[in-house]
Amino acid sequence: MHRRMERERKTIAAMSKIYCRDYHGLPDGNLCPSCQELLNYAYFRLEKCPYQEKKPTCANCPIHCYKPEMRERVRAMMRYAGPRMLLRHPILAVAHLLDGRKKVLPPGKAESVSKRVLDKTNIR
Ligand code: SF4
Ligand SMILES: [Zn+2]
Repeated sequence: MHRRMERERKTIAAMSKIYCRDYHGLPDGNLCPSCQELLNYAYFRLEKCPYQEKKPTCANCPIHCYKPEMRERVRAMMRYAGPRMLLRHPILAVAHLLDGRKKVLPPGKAESVSKRVLDKTNIR
């Protein structure tokens, strides 16, 4: 797996743990079934991400491959855990912030990627 994608997996896993610990009271490192389900879904989406190592942050992505319900859940989780990452995982947090500043594909190109991928994989 490309290093960038590995880092994406680590970042979302670390955020999930922070969120689950504070919201659902599970000991550090464990996830409740709901957070585990969300994390599995995020891993699955990462696996299918058409950008792979060139991906923007999902928040800046013109495709938005998440199902609406999952998008809302991941947004809520990241809104809480994002700022807390700086203390607990500063390197991952800074890398994620820098990813957020990267240029996203121009809309035309992104749309064609989006259509092709959605047609091919019937994702969502
Ligand atoms: S939202 Fe965009 S960047 Fe994130 S996994 Fe889906 S296609 Fe890739
Ligand atoms: Zn949880």
